[in-house]
This record gives sequence, C-alpha cells and structure tokens, in this order.
Amino acid sequence: MIVDTHCHLDDPRFDEDIELVLSRAIEHGVEKFIIPGADPKSLDRAVELADRYEQIYFAVGVHPYDAKNYDRESLLPYTKHKRCIAIGECGLDYYRLPSNEDEIILEKELQKEVFVDQILWAKELNKPLIVHIRDSSVDSMELLEKYAGDRGGVLHCYNADEQLLKLADRNFYFGIGGVLTFKNAKKLINVYPKIPKDRLLVETDAPYLTPHPHRGERNEPLYTTYIVEKMSILSEVESDDIKSITTKNANTLFGL
Ligand SMILES: [Zn+2]
Ligand SMILES: [Zn+2]
Repeated sequence: MIVDTHCHLDDPRFDEDIELVLSRAIEHGVEKFIIPGADPKSLDRAVELADRYEQIYFAVGVHPYDAKNYDRESLLPYTKHKRCIAIGECGLDYYRLPSNEDEIILEKELQKEVFVDQILWAKELNKPLIVHIRDSSVDSMELLEKYAGDRGGVLHCYNADEQLLKLADRNFYFGIGGVLTFKNAKKLINVYPKIPKDRLLVETDAPYLTPHPHRGERNEPLYTTYIVEKMSILSEVESDDIKSITTKNANTLFGL
C-alpha cells in the first residue's frame, strides 16, 4: 500500500473527475490520501471529500502565500473533525518576495508570525505539522527548533537542504515527491540516501510537481508509483519494501 501524504484533492482541477482519480490510484495500491490545508476557502471541499471517502484525511492550516488570510478562530471548528489529522501546510516561502526592502521585511515578519502561531497550535492540539519550506531553511529551522513540540511533523517537498536533516531527531519526517524523478534533481538524489529510512514519506503535491514521464500534465496520486520506483532504485531495496516502510511511517506520524 502507498499513502499519498500530500495531495491537494480539494483543488478545482479535480472537481470533474475526482471519482476516477481516486479509483485509478486505489487500483494501483495508493490507498490513503492526505489533503493539506492551504487556502482556507477550500477547506469545506476537503471536509466534504473526507466525509464521502473513508480513505481521505485532511489537515487544517494556511500556506505562507495566504498568510494574510490566517485566522485561527475561524479554522478552529475544522480541527474537531475526526479526519483532521494535522496542522498545515504552514511554513515560510521566500521564493516570491516583493521588490521593495521594507515590504520584504514586512512580508517575512507576517509569514513568521503566522507560522509560529500554527506551530504552537499543533503543539496545543498534539497534532503533527505539515511544513512548507522554500528558500527559507535557516529561518524555518530556527522557528521549528524553538517552538515545535515532540509530535514533530513532515517537511513536505523536502528541498534537499542537508542541515534540515537534523530535524529527524525532533521527530520530523521528509516528504519525497516528483522532484526525485527529474533529470536535474542531482542535489536531492545525492542527499536522499542520508535520510533515515524511518523518516521517509511519499507525496505527490498534486496537482503540482508532476513526476517524469508526465511532467507538464496535471499530477495525481497514482503517480506516487513513479516516486516509489525511483526511491527503490536509489535505496537499493524492492519497491514493495519502500511501500511498506513509508506506509508504516505515515501511519505512525499521522495516526491513520
Ligand atoms: Zn507546499
Ligand atoms: Zn502543497
């Protein structure tokens, strides 16, 4: 069995054929799905899907790009749902910053404030975190080391930054996605063997980051199979072993 630990099935791009997307995945052994929270506006859709399909779980959180829409009070009721298994995706993303110095400072401050609040919230609820880090390893690491609880979480779409591996000791896992299958993914391919096996998770980040040989198309949970194949080659173990290791890790972290 494979668990897709990060797929945005609440994205409108899945509205028309969600049944087919799920059945294709399930037929090929992808049997559990986690929808991360990102934009509060699509949370109702995530809940609707989790109510309809027993294989679907979701998280509540606000992506750094939506930091200005963060309001813990309004999100609170969603965390009481029995399929809400994590807080996130939350984090820091410095890839697209404003051009003006003062605005950059304000944007970073806002992202940090919203990230810290979600880290503390996860600790209060004793739920794991789904963390998004892009071009912000140093600041993200500092905040996680300072505020995160023992329950840990996942660094989703792990960016191959070796210093982040230290967080394995703080119960953080590493989400491996389609990037591993890209021809120019040298950095991730080199770091991959250094990730402890008991900290590996598989994710698509669908509809984004589609693995080779489907780059350019919409991504979907079925394509975790390409990621597992690549992990199997790099780890020099059977793909069935990758499936059972990563499923066990997902069940442990998220209590599925
Ligand atoms: Zn993300
Ligand atoms: Zn995502």
